[in-house]
Order: sequence, then structure tokens, then C-alpha cells
Amino acid sequence: MDANPNDNGDGFGQAPGLYVHVPFCATKCPYCAFASCTRIESAPAFRDAVLAEAARYRNRFSPFDTLYFGGGTPGFVDPAILGDIVHKLRNILAFKPDCEATIEVNPADVTADRAAAWHDMGFCRASLGAQAFDDDALRFLGRRHDASGVSEALLRLRHAGFVDIGIDLIYGLPGQTREAWRSTLRRALDAGPTHLSCYALSVEPRTPLARAVRRREAELPGESAVAALFLDTSRFLAKAGFIHYEVSNYALLDRYRSRHNVKYWRSVPTLGLGPSAHSFDGTRRWWNVRSLEAYLRRSQARISPVAASERLTDEMRRLETLAMGFRTREGVSLDVLRDGPAAEAALSRLVADGRLKIQRNRAVPTTTGFLVADSLARTFA
Ligand code: SF4
Repeated sequence: MDANPNDNGDGFGQAPGLYVHVPFCATKCPYCAFASCTRIESAPAFRDAVLAEAARYRNRFSPFDTLYFGGGTPGFVDPAILGDIVHKLRNILAFKPDCEATIEVNPADVTADRAAAWHDMGFCRASLGAQAFDDDALRFLGRRHDASGVSEALLRLRHAGFVDIGIDLIYGLPGQTREAWRSTLRRALDAGPTHLSCYALSVEPRTPLARAVRRREAELPGESAVAALFLDTSRFLAKAGFIHYEVSNYALLDRYRSRHNVKYWRSVPTLGLGPSAHSFDGTRRWWNVRSLEAYLRRSQARISPVAASERLTDEMRRLETLAMGFRTREGVSLDVLRDGPAAEAALSRLVADGRLKIQRNRAVPTTTGFLVADSLARTFA
């Protein structure tokens, strides 16, 4: 496969993206299944291991046009260590001059000094893990900040020079009414973000939340209530001028979309560094060992942190194009759907049901189509 069937020529381009997984958090949130831990004392060893891993990829990727520090909580790490990583990465790997650099931060870590330090390191986008704007919800989610802390954090980021600031929110909490969620959205909008990510709370296996649900200590809303909140969110944010460009993501203008995340949805190559990070070079995927200990051990023994890899066949890439494309307003080129009467009948039925639209030779999900993005992909698999 050569030309990317998901590229809609909007200038986001085909340059690869670089992701750095920073696995440290001050505390572990009860719903979280990400590879993260509280052993911040390992941050210097992590820095050395990430830089050693980056050196393995010298000259193997063309210049990156995105850099994304996610986690974990990158903003929780001492800015001197973080700055060292960013600075040295720029000497080991090649970056385009207009590189979009994003850092994920938690409101509790956003001091004026840290915000200025992140901006000085070259970060131009901040993704703020607010999750909620009501203190009961924040307590349930085990977060370290209170509702007023989010707006203050956003002001500090803006004062430090960040223009592009996203807010992450979670809906579908126990007992959450439509009005309570709307009030969260209103408060988020009042803070003036350029980007919003709204995720339905999901119960991940082996988390404290999963145990609480099993013991009936927490009761989450059912599927139809969550779907209603999803549709309400899309309508509400559209009225506020936000573009619903991916199932969970909204941008105030096209240019405020996450250029880095768009690469995943379009199957553009990305290099991931750090524990649990995934990479893709256009034909092969590989992923690193998940635990920080294993990652550091391998680095000290000068062994690659890659846990496993797979070469994608054309058919596997087609299935990924379907799975990713139906999550976005770019949809999927009709050329990628299977030929034949069954696929044509399915397409007509989904268009008649209002789940898909045909636009410029692409099958594009509507908002109700987003609700069933996975099943759209399966239909044409
Ligand atoms: S801050 Fe984020 S990564 Fe860290 S434990 Fe909470 S949800 Fe997980």
C-alpha cells in the first residue's frame, strides 16, 4: 500500500510523530489502566533509558513533525529532568521546524514556574487532565485537584504563553445527570480551551473501580444513558462552535485538532519511546515491555525494550483503516470498503439509518454513527 487512504490533504501531512510515555503519577487513579506508577525517584534512570532507546532509532525515521509527552503525568516530573530529555532528544532524532509539541499535565502540577519551564522547553500544546469540574466527581475519580484548580491551571498555562490548550473530561459517572454533565461542559468552556476530549468512563479489568463495580459499591449508568450523554455532548459543543472530529475529540478550529493523534487515526508512522509505548513504521508494529522495572532493567543490560512486533499484511492494514477511519469525520474511502452486493446493501442501509453519509467518495460517520464506530468497521471487514 503506498498512498494513505485516510489522508484528506489538509496539510497535516505524512511526517512521522514521536511519542514519549512518561510513566510517573503522584497517585494512582482508581479507574486507570495505563502503564503508570508512583516511583518518581526512578525519573533520572528513566531519562537515561529513554535517551538510550531514542539512539537506537537514529536515522531510522524521517524528521518528526509532532512530539507528544503522555503518560502517566509528564508534568509531574521535575522540569529539569524533562527539559534534559526534550533537549537531548532534539540532538538524537530529527524534527521539522514546525513540530507540534504537546505535554499532558494535571492541574495540581501546573505552577507558574512549571508552566513557563514547559513552554521554554518548546511545548506549544498542553493537554490538561481536568476530568471533572465538580468536587464530588473529582473525589470519586481520585484526582488531586479541586474544581477551581482547573481554571487556575489553565490561566497559568495561558500566562506562560500556551495558546493551544486542551481539557480532558470524563462522563458517565455514577448518578451523573444530564444537567450535572452539562454544567461540567459549561465550566470547561468558560475556561476557554481550544480542544476538548470527552471520554466515557470505562471499567478496566483489575482496577479498583472494577472491584468496586463487582462489589456493587459503584453503579455506573447503563449503555443507553451513556449514549444519550454522548449525543448531548456533541450537540452542546457544536453549539459552542466546536468541531466533533473524532469520537471523543472536539476542536475549536480545524487547526486545533491534535496533529499527533490524527497520525494514529490515519495510520501514519509513529515512534513510541518508554514503557508500553507502541510504534509503527508503515509496515511493522512493535511495542515495548509494559513495566518501568522491566524497561529500566533492559536498558541497563543494553537490551532492546521491544516486547513483540508484527508485520502488517495489506488486509490487516485495510482493517485498521476501517477501524480508525470510522472513528473520525474523515471516514473511510469507498475504495477501502469491500466490493460486492453485500457491502453495497450494508452501505445503503447505514446511509438510510443515518449512521453514514457519502461525501467526496468517502463513507463518513454521522454523530449517531460514531456511537457504533466499531460495528461500522466490522460491517465492512
Ligand atoms: S493521572 Fe492519568 S495516568 Fe496517572 S493514574 Fe491518573 S488517570 Fe492514570
